[in-house]
Amino acid sequence: MKETEELFKDIEAREPAMMDTWRKLVDRDCGPDNKDGVDAVGKEAAAFLENAGFSVHFHTYEKAGNMLVAEYGDMMKPFIILTGHMDTVFMKGTAKERPFHVDGNRVTGPGALDMKGGMTILLHVAKLLTENGYDRYPIKIILAGDEETGHTNSGAAEDYLKEARGGVMGFNMETGFLDNRIVIERKGVAQYLFHSHGVGAHAGNNPEDGRSAVKELCHKVLDIEALTDRDKGTNVNVGVISGGTVANAIPEDASCKVDVRFRTEEESDRVEKAFEDIARRVYIDGVTTTCRRLVRVSAMERLPGSEKLFERAQAIAASHGLPAMKAAAVGGGSDSAYLTKAGIPTLCALGVKGEFNHTVREWAAKDSLVERAKLLTALLTEI
Ligand SMILES: [Zn+2]
Repeated sequence: MKETEELFKDIEAREPAMMDTWRKLVDRDCGPDNKDGVDAVGKEAAAFLENAGFSVHFHTYEKAGNMLVAEYGDMMKPFIILTGHMDTVFMKGTAKERPFHVDGNRVTGPGALDMKGGMTILLHVAKLLTENGYDRYPIKIILAGDEETGHTNSGAAEDYLKEARGGVMGFNMETGFLDNRIVIERKGVAQYLFHSHGVGAHAGNNPEDGRSAVKELCHKVLDIEALTDRDKGTNVNVGVISGGTVANAIPEDASCKVDVRFRTEEESDRVEKAFEDIARRVYIDGVTTTCRRLVRVSAMERLPGSEKLFERAQAIAASHGLPAMKAAAVGGGSDSAYLTKAGIPTLCALGVKGEFNHTVREWAAKDSLVERAKLLTALLTEI
């Protein structure tokens, strides 16, 4: 195996090839409306990785992009996980409308930052290492096809957890930050809809016959928000409320939408259980309430192992003159949640650096492609 600094020279020499891969990945629509686009990218990535000595299999889904899993080495031994996703948030036609474009150090195009750049690094570094006889750890690559939709239309969340088992550390090539924050914690998010149903009546003629859904829900809103626990990082917010039809009627229906942010699965479970109790509790006789979960993205929990992994990564980066990094907790979710759920120390946001992902202003720093490829190479060869 070559010295890390020797591999760095190889990376620099491969920059044009990496730019080419990046361009191809960006110029193919991979939005939530485009399973075919995601699957085509998966096939290309599979061919690339097979060529690099990996064996590849897919988890296939009817209504979502497939998940690619590539393995190198003896998977019975503790392995390293390299991960990310192939899908973007941009709909069909975006790649044609505003294709991959380089303007100075700014690279644009759908998913250039989130996360076709990181995927490019993952593919090329994996190939570089296997070509050089890498044998420090077996490597498992997991590339999801429906991360941006939170795996709502597939079994990818469970498949991810199963595939992660046996991993000893994880590196997620997600969207990098310009200020070199490396993510070791992400809050989870869940949203719920409460609906109360009472009995309507005329406010002038027979108000005593009415059962106000609005009044019931008002009591509940206070109960719901009381579940906030700032010390534990849990925030419960009733963001939307509606009910009734006219001022002179006892309202028959009322509903509210609730957003919950949490740091740990335990807190998420606590709140959800309490929501069920709140839904069952009756303040106004004759009003019934349901509570339905609309979406849920797991938290990437902060593991002591992730903190240690970050410290080692920081030291390795410094020894090669790579930029100093900061360990960070951020709001947005990622598939790293499944790695920490499996107890695997994980660093996230190791991909190309930039800003404004999920918007038309998204851009990635061109020079971070080589820089982050060097970082990943150094981590894999020295950690
Ligand atoms: Zn992403």
